[in-house]
Amino acid sequence: MAEDCIFCRIAEGEIPSEIVYEDKDIIAFKDVSPQAPIHIVIIPRKHYTSILAIPAGDAIMGKIQTVISRLAIKFGVAEDGFRVVNNCGEAGGQTVPHVHFHFLAGRNMAWPPG
Ligand code: IMP
Repeated sequence: MAEDCIFCRIAEGEIPSEIVYEDKDIIAFKDVSPQAPIHIVIIPRKHYTSILAIPAGDAIMGKIQTVISRLAIKFGVAEDGFRVVNNCGEAGGQTVPHVHFHFLAGRNMAWPPG
């Protein structure tokens, strides 16, 4: 755990959040500033600053993919569709330096993103 990391503190239960999924490796919670009717943040419990910090071959990416599928079913959007976003680094729009994936659904998404 990184002491000054807001997502580590959410994973530890030190900061309240509306958790929609959790297991020993991953936690998913509602975004505090939703950009769609359904906006979930998926994080590994382990602190990696960005997707670039995840070691090659680490199993976490496959586990996150499984959680994405579970969320699509849980929120009933597997058929309609949804968007998964990873912002990486400053130019990528990342504001919290703990790797995370946005799961967005419940409206039609525009392309290109801003
Ligand atoms: P980023 O801009 O891709 O790094 O995404 C960070 C996301 O975390 C933003 O969508 C924020 O709204 C969200 N966020 C920041 N703090 C909290 C919190 O305490 N609870 C839930 N979501 C948060």
